[in-house]
Amino acid sequence: MRDLAQDLLNWYDVHARDMPWRVPPADRKTGVLPDPYAVWLSEVMLQQTTVAAVRGYHAKFIVLWPTVADLAAAEDADVMAAWAGLGYYARARNLLKCARAVVADHGGSFPQTNDALLSLPGIGPYTAAAVSSIAFDQPSVVVDGNVERVMARLHDVHDPLPASKPMLTLLAAGLTPQTRPGDYAQAVMDLGATICSPRNPTCAICPLRARCAAFAAGTAADLPKKTPKKKVPTRYGIAYVVRRSDGAWLLETRPDSGLLGGMLGFTTTDWSDSPNPAPPVDTEWQTLNTIAKHTFTHFHLELTIQTATTDNVPTRGHFVAQGDFDPTALPTAMRKVYAQIKATLRHD
Ligand code: SF4
Repeated sequence: MRDLAQDLLNWYDVHARDMPWRVPPADRKTGVLPDPYAVWLSEVMLQQTTVAAVRGYHAKFIVLWPTVADLAAAEDADVMAAWAGLGYYARARNLLKCARAVVADHGGSFPQTNDALLSLPGIGPYTAAAVSSIAFDQPSVVVDGNVERVMARLHDVHDPLPASKPMLTLLAAGLTPQTRPGDYAQAVMDLGATICSPRNPTCAICPLRARCAAFAAGTAADLPKKTPKKKVPTRYGIAYVVRRSDGAWLLETRPDSGLLGGMLGFTTTDWSDSPNPAPPVDTEWQTLNTIAKHTFTHFHLELTIQTATTDNVPTRGHFVAQGDFDPTALPTAMRKVYAQIKATLRHD
């Protein structure tokens, strides 16, 4: 099995993907390691998000906050605004907590071991393993969806996920080498992302084909098996889009706990089967004949949109002047509400 790791490293030496936070294998062999801050930032951003979507955000964060100390000193609202559109906003709040803990408890340098990284806020087993492996070349066992898929296929595991996770982790541990563990972790992920892909793996060009049990059995495309997910329910709500007569927009920062926590958005009702109306200001409302739809991990959301122009004083939220209103600082669900407003205005 160690030969398998070597085959994979040989492939990675030629085919490693180019990523801004990555040090290419030729440079790593000379002892160059990546900036742990850039690696950590990339790993947090990449959770539930594609590399293509992360590239621009990562570059923006590195320009705005070049070091973990810069990020730790940033205003919460600025970081949330820079994160807007990337989704899963708890990650941004945890990002700040972690940056501040690195500065307060570790002198501004990330700790190097898996266990020490795990003690930081917002760093779970996957991120601790990825950062210790990629940034510090520790032989940690890095297991994400790509790695699970590759392991299930290499060993022809038919037990469904998520119950098979512990077994796949054990199999991944058995392959993780002591030499070049950081490159190895990135190599498995690259193989899973480019060749051993979820549908239609291109086994014909795979460096592990000769050692792959699923390829031999003809089962690669059927693995990994997954326990069927429950049907995703739909929740409903009303988004209240209020303009003042001078053009200012009524926005509100959502509570830290809960969905879109800490993000700026339009005021809304609760999101449920039958939301209770909760207009933020006493005024006449118009209902658009269109709805904004957005899908979160566990439910679909359908927002009816009500609009009003008023100078009455709202009971919640605050007005943002038209010149200061930046729709790109809104989370995606709220951008969809804004897009419906713009489309309606165009048709009026
Ligand atoms: Fe994946 Fe096919 Fe390679 Fe096996 S041979 S690891 S199934 S790409």
